[in-house]
Amino acid sequence: MTIQTRFETHDIFNQSPPYEDVNLFASDRPLRDAVAANGAGTEAAALSEFGKRWGAAGMFENARLANEFTPKLKTFDTKGFRRDVVEFHPAYHAFMTESMRDGMHAWTWTAEGARAAAPSEVARAARYFMIAQVENGHQCPITMTRACVGSLAVEPPLLKKLIGKITSRTYDPRFIPWWEKDGITLGMGMTEKQGGTDVRANTTVATPAGEGYSITGHKWFMSAPMCDAFLVLAQAPGGLTCFLMPRFRPDGSVNGLRFQRLKDKLGNRSNASSEVEFVDAFAWRIGEEGRGVRTIIEMVQLTRVDCIIGSAGIMRGALAQAMHHARHRTVFQKRLADQPMMRSVLADMALEMEGITALTMRLCRSFDHAADPKEAARARLLTPAVKYWICKSAPGFVYEAMECLGGNGYVEETALARLYREAPLNAIWEGSGNVMCLDVLRALSREGEAARAVLSDLVRACGDLPGVKEAAVFIAKTLSAADGEAHARVAVERLARLAATAALAEGAPGVAEAFARSRLAPSGMYGSSDLQNAEVTDLLDRALPA
Ligand SMILES: Cc1cc2nc3c(=O)[nH]c(=O)nc-3n(C[C@H](O)[C@H](O)[C@H](O)COP(=O)(O)OP(=O)(O)OC[C@H]3O[C@@H](n4cnc5c(N)ncnc54)[C@H](O)[C@@H]3O)c2cc1C
Repeated sequence: MTIQTRFETHDIFNQSPPYEDVNLFASDRPLRDAVAANGAGTEAAALSEFGKRWGAAGMFENARLANEFTPKLKTFDTKGFRRDVVEFHPAYHAFMTESMRDGMHAWTWTAEGARAAAPSEVARAARYFMIAQVENGHQCPITMTRACVGSLAVEPPLLKKLIGKITSRTYDPRFIPWWEKDGITLGMGMTEKQGGTDVRANTTVATPAGEGYSITGHKWFMSAPMCDAFLVLAQAPGGLTCFLMPRFRPDGSVNGLRFQRLKDKLGNRSNASSEVEFVDAFAWRIGEEGRGVRTIIEMVQLTRVDCIIGSAGIMRGALAQAMHHARHRTVFQKRLADQPMMRSVLADMALEMEGITALTMRLCRSFDHAADPKEAARARLLTPAVKYWICKSAPGFVYEAMECLGGNGYVEETALARLYREAPLNAIWEGSGNVMCLDVLRALSREGEAARAVLSDLVRACGDLPGVKEAAVFIAKTLSAADGEAHARVAVERLARLAATAALAEGAPGVAEAFARSRLAPSGMYGSSDLQNAEVTDLLDRALPA
């Protein structure tokens, strides 16, 4: 196609070409290094093919379409019968088809539902990271489908019945019973109106009935409502319990899920997120009564990892767009990318991205080797810390990238606006920032010895770099202090940065020193200032009297 550059009133020049038809793997040296350092080097050729396919212009265009033409809830048919279905743009279905064909929901499970051999986590994470640079909304059901298997493992007979459909590489969007479908997807509903974090406050009730339970109540957020079944939490006679609720009852009739409306969201617009009522809905119990949190946490942990990979991918996508633009745009007779201050900005963002990429893939390696107690302890301590740091860093990072494009960055046609609206989400769901910090504290108090061994390992990996030993002392002291909760944010952030330094020391030693030098000093998220209790009270009173 020839692009018209001559208008009647002016010529068009000095606009950067679209960032598309790129190989998302070959063009990303930090990713290639991190993949190789974490055991998935043999995947390089396949990842390069994947990166080329997902970086094609048509993918970016489909991402725009899927987010511009948002899902619609069809509650009733023309005669007033309930339908409770959601309609999506074909571009959304195209992404689901592609991601499921690539096995993003199934990669880490065997055909029996056991953990697949290493390096399945790292190999999948590299792919998920690239997809996140293109389209995020459809990754929600993909993530939940893969993660739910972790919880279903406590019910081997049920898992055996479902696993073939779950790991099928065929996307089947038909609204029919799961056993008639070529492939199924799974979602989850924990959050209610009166509390999301505090799931023990759930009021939804489950009563034993026939071969399962009858569930009545609601969920305030339940994303991807066209999934074929949902892990939900409800109060059974024995306490808060985990269930699997299919869209169709075992007799083939439509189950009692009544969607009230879809959320009108800031971003993540290609994905539907519903408010739903359960009216005597049929469900299978998963795990023992009263063990709901313990059961569903297996799913939550895996979902948190995808939040991390997703945010890292969003940041990489934003950085690549910023660098691409700066290399094609001239200002004051010089390429933007050659202006000294812009070079500093881009290099600093690239350094941050080095740490984030190395750390993300190193964390996924711990999941690849979860049978090793040392790696399991690392995953336990670091997953919430890394989610805290990376997911919370994403909005500011994407904003900085957006500013590199000037006004062009702020308009919808560039992907930056969409990435920016998407960026806060991963920090909010599956445990918001404070909740992640509390989880780090919990790991330290319940499995203190293992957690301290992880900290020692991190220091061993990079102890000769500037600031490492001081950071480790600060982290240990702050998190074990009597008022540790009040100051947890600053220590958890430093823990994640320390882990990133260690990951770089192993996977990209050439940049580890610069990262340590500039990133291990105390820093700047809200909640990190060294305020005394009296100052906190005074500031809060001045801001808004109680
Ligand atoms: C787009 C979108 C899709 C979603 N999809 C789903 C879904 O599919 N299924 C589902 O179950 N949920 C879903 N959620 C809900 C999401 O997981 C919750 O919003 C999240 O867990 C926070 O719960 P909450 O909204 O009730 O906030 P709250 O629990 O009220 O938390 C509010 C704030 O308080 C902080 N906080 C909580 N406890 C403490 C404490 N002890 N100390 C200090 N601070 C604390 C939190 O960090 C947070 O910042 C979705 C949310 C969004 C935005």
